[in-house]
Amino acid sequence: MAKTIVELKKADLTLGSAAASVHVLKGVDLTVFEGESVGILGPSGSGKSTLLMVLAGLERLDGGDILIRDTGLNGLSEDALADFRGRNVGIIFQSFHLIANMTALENVAVPLELANVGNAFEIARRELEAVGLGERLNHYPGQLSGGEQQRVAIARALAPAPGLLIADEPTGNLDAETGRQIADLIFASQAERGSTLLLVTHDAALAARCSRQVHMRSGTIENDSADLHLGRTANA
Ligand code: ADP
Ligand code: MG
Repeated sequence: MAKTIVELKKADLTLGSAAASVHVLKGVDLTVFEGESVGILGPSGSGKSTLLMVLAGLERLDGGDILIRDTGLNGLSEDALADFRGRNVGIIFQSFHLIANMTALENVAVPLELANVGNAFEIARRELEAVGLGERLNHYPGQLSGGEQQRVAIARALAPAPGLLIADEPTGNLDAETGRQIADLIFASQAERGSTLLLVTHDAALAARCSRQVHMRSGTIENDSADLHLGRTANA
């Protein structure tokens, strides 16, 4: 039987100040198995990015539980959480989030060095070669196209060999053809490494490439294709 990698139980989160608070996640239950790819769809403001931030341990829940590989994130200190994230979760953002005054190689290697990986620069070089940037190691983000910058970000996310890869609209800032190439790279990397992918997108065709589709609305999961496979009804 497949192993669980993500377990959200009644995940609840309100963001913002008391005067302008938003109830962003309203008791979300979600179980993801190792090796799955989950496309997360839903209107703007429905809580997709916040859900990913919770999964990455970048936002803490107000209520409920989050387990990644059987580790409850609620109970971890900030340092332990950062350490856990560094080892287990790779993150790809829409806007790349590269460090402008570091080369491609440094952008990939520095997080590994921070995690005390011995041969950080060697691993970084290999990961950049794997995404087709072997000739661009010493280029700065400003010297790279959007698609190339996203390749650097993918190499950075994959370098620590995380079990869980999360991507928030990874093709949202790219033209259609470049976006397709980046999507191909993400799915190929996931298949090759047997990792688990959670991908937020507003592109239904991209979500359809995932093995499972989850639809969010107003801080809840309104539809999950896994429920249909199991013969359960959504929202049950
Ligand atoms: P999505 O990614 O689906 O567009 P988000 O998760 O970014 O949605 O946001 C969900 C809701 O939470 C939105 O209404 C957004 O305005 C609100 N929100 C997100 N972050 C904050 C924050 N730090 N403070 C207050 N409200 C927030
Ligand atoms: Mg978002």
